[in-house]
Amino acid sequence: MSWCQFCQKGGDNLLGKETVRVLIVDDNENDALVIRQQLAQSPSTSFLTDWAATYQDALLKIHAGGHDVCLIDYTLDEQNGLILIQTALQLGSKAAMIMLTGTDEGAIDAAATESGAADYLVKGKYDSDMLERVIRHSLHRYRLEGELRAARDNLEKRVETRTAELCDAISALQQEIDRRESIERQLRETEERYRIIFEEAMDAIILIAIPSGTFVDFNSQACRQLEYSREEFKKLTILDIEARETPEQSRQHIDRILNQGAEVFESLHRTRSGKIRNILISTRPILLSGTKYLLALFHDFTERKQTEDDLRSAVIRLEQNNQAKSEFVANVSHELKTPLTSMMYGVRNLLKGIAGPLPDHAIRYLKLFDSECQRLVATINDILDLGKLDNQSLTLAPITAPLGHLVRGCLEALRPQADAAGIVMTVTLDPRTRFVHCDPNMIQRVLYNILGNAVKFTPPGGTITLSVRPEAEQAFARITVTDTGIGIPPDAMARVTQRYFRASNHASGSGLGLAISKEIIILHGGTLALASPPPGQEKGTEITLTLPLGEPPTILVADNDVVIQTLLKLHLTTLGYRVITTQSGQETILTAEASRPDLILLDLILEDINGVTVILTLRGSPSIRYIPIIAITGATLDESTSEVLSRFSIPTLPKPWNSKELTETIESALLGMTVFQTPAGKEPRS
Ligand code: ADP
Repeated sequence: MSWCQFCQKGGDNLLGKETVRVLIVDDNENDALVIRQQLAQSPSTSFLTDWAATYQDALLKIHAGGHDVCLIDYTLDEQNGLILIQTALQLGSKAAMIMLTGTDEGAIDAAATESGAADYLVKGKYDSDMLERVIRHSLHRYRLEGELRAARDNLEKRVETRTAELCDAISALQQEIDRRESIERQLRETEERYRIIFEEAMDAIILIAIPSGTFVDFNSQACRQLEYSREEFKKLTILDIEARETPEQSRQHIDRILNQGAEVFESLHRTRSGKIRNILISTRPILLSGTKYLLALFHDFTERKQTEDDLRSAVIRLEQNNQAKSEFVANVSHELKTPLTSMMYGVRNLLKGIAGPLPDHAIRYLKLFDSECQRLVATINDILDLGKLDNQSLTLAPITAPLGHLVRGCLEALRPQADAAGIVMTVTLDPRTRFVHCDPNMIQRVLYNILGNAVKFTPPGGTITLSVRPEAEQAFARITVTDTGIGIPPDAMARVTQRYFRASNHASGSGLGLAISKEIIILHGGTLALASPPPGQEKGTEITLTLPLGEPPTILVADNDVVIQTLLKLHLTTLGYRVITTQSGQETILTAEASRPDLILLDLILEDINGVTVILTLRGSPSIRYIPIIAITGATLDESTSEVLSRFSIPTLPKPWNSKELTETIESALLGMTVFQTPAGKEPRS
């Protein structure tokens, strides 16, 4: 059974009295009714009562809320009231708990208060007034406690918030402190690093005041360099250490340093002990807190300068020695060459029979003598040319030269040696490489040297091939000499073009030929390269030269016989020459002046004036007197004509000529030589 007055309407203020909602928890309904009646008698308070008979029921109602006061019997069915109070409070009940008990025991009283009860009533020992008073006091106290609790909670919350804010502020502060400490540490480290760099620098670093020249700051090296203590150094100015010859010179030099800004100066400084040092000063003006200073770096280069001076003197001495040596060598070489050449011609005349027939063994000795003389003259010529190459006095006299003529000349000169050794020499010439721009004497010498080496280093039965073809896409002729000889050892390859070098497998000769040849070819703008063995072969050597190709020479053919003129033109054009023609003497002279041909082929019988008059006119004209002339002659020549031709060394081409003669004569005339001249004293080496 249960009863409840909460459902009555009215709320807090029935009949103008304060309304208090009371839950009576008692398993004895009669006791509960008694309490309810006592409450109903209250004159000042209107109590709305509710009742719970069991622990469970009570707990549910307390949990549902809505009570201001719970009157709880100590003795309940399964649990005691103390536990209910504790549980209700734990569940967050806001009602004031008043314990009811049958006995007046202090222990229960204390336990009730401890459990959170607001007050304690002994059944039968209170009347309705007391009950109402206890309820009111409890409520009052409870409310006060509630307010207190709320105030405390509020305070605690504020304290908590403030504490959190404080903690945040402290942690932010800590972070800031950490950050500053780290920056300070980095600054200290950087400062330390800069200090070490500054102090340990190998050069003196000095901050100089302008214009006084005093040393505002400086590193240890500055003191070491000039042998002063820090204290002494502080009192100096830059003028005090400058050591020019006169104080005036020193002052001017320092003025320049202080006023010129970023610059590099060479200075002479006097150390504390009086030593003079060579110093290189690099300066840069800087601004510190608005004041201008000069930052200077003093680099001591005394030792280096001393070494340089020593070296310079040594070089001068060496150059002088070298010059003296070269002059001596050149003089001796000249002195040797003249008697040697005379001896050589003497021997040759003897061999030609000038002193009558000689016995065979004498001829053998004389031939040996001759060949040794030639070798010596060749070496002397090499030495003389080396000197000229060194002092750059070896000049070229380049012309457009018929390469075939030069190549054939060398081959023919060396043929006797090659034949004697059973060496086969072959030559292939590409018609596109007929003319090269070169000094023919120099190139003959190079070809002779290279072919001579090929003959020298090829055992009997071998072959030597010379081929000339155009260098791909370039205006060069590529001359390749390949032999099947002993080859050049790999370790010697890089050095065979150096002066005086001879490979270990053949140590004879002066070792100058290839070096000079290479320098001559380079002077011509060409190249010289070696391969040993030649590509695709097992043995032998291949030397490749390149020379710039030349424009085909122009030949003026002057002949009044149209048939001969046509024949000559045809022949010369086939040989790659450009040809212009004239028929009369006057026309020939005018064309020669206007066209400046490379060669004039002149028939001595012309339409108007005779050939001799033309020759005299051409040779008398300064602008064209250098042009080589070949005279086309009949069977016999009169005396005066012969004399003119011989006076001007004009070769003749007697009619009828064969094409070989014609070619040879033209090429020789173009080269300004009538016979092949070997580089060594006009005869091939043996
Ligand atoms: P040299 O004037 O004494 O002949 P070179 O300067 O012409 O000297 O040559 C230098 C060296 O290169 C020679 O001593 C030789 O060892 C080597 N050499 C040159 N040409 C050949 C070749 N065709 N075959 C083998 N060795 C060569």
